[in-house]
Amino acid sequence: MLGAGGSLAGVAGGAAAAASGFLAWAVRGRSAQVFGRSVWRGPSGRRAVALTFDDGPSEATPQLLEILARHQTPATFFQCGANVERLPEAARAVAGRGHEIGNHGYSHKRFYLRSARFMEEELRRAQSAIEERTGVRPVWFRAPYGARWFGLGSVQRRLGLTGVMWSAIGYDWSLGADAVMERLAAGVSNGAILCLHDGRELLVKPDIGATLEAVRRLVPMLLDRGYEFETVTRLLCQTT
Ligand SMILES: [Zn+2]
Repeated sequence: MLGAGGSLAGVAGGAAAAASGFLAWAVRGRSAQVFGRSVWRGPSGRRAVALTFDDGPSEATPQLLEILARHQTPATFFQCGANVERLPEAARAVAGRGHEIGNHGYSHKRFYLRSARFMEEELRRAQSAIEERTGVRPVWFRAPYGARWFGLGSVQRRLGLTGVMWSAIGYDWSLGADAVMERLAAGVSNGAILCLHDGRELLVKPDIGATLEAVRRLVPMLLDRGYEFETVTRLLCQTT
């Protein structure tokens, strides 16, 4: 009995492990297209990288814009619709400084196990909030937590959005500036898409000190190494 039960459990466990392995691959996997078209990096032929910031705008976004302006560094901001409605001036300032704005969902809820209707509502509400407040209609989308789900592909197609993941992520919501810097410096290469955060989900007045300090040091360091910073559109769509 024990043996039979054990082996059945083993089979079931194996199937479950295989299923969850598939999901881990599909939800975040680099080659998976089951959840819609996504890109992870730009071409490796040019010494260029894209800095991207998720979860904004926040009260600290203007500080980040000052740091980027000092080095004339363009970036791409994946904004949450709810944060855009809370801080429309900060959202507009991002566009006004020449940065690109992408869609990061309305309320930063995880898409894992959600219906297509739920995901479409999140993306549509964020598109409207961003377009109404900044005049920009995003063409790029970054899934909250990087988690994608069945049905997202058709939702993206209906809204004209392409998914953008990342090739290196700073874990700036939990690590200090030194560790964030180390991670990104180690992960950078031609065409890299670097992921940081100018907000913390929907938190009011989040502490993004580690992010600001990391950017303050990372940008001049990468410029010294000969990298150019580009928006996601320029990094991915440049034809020359
Ligand atoms: Zn996020």
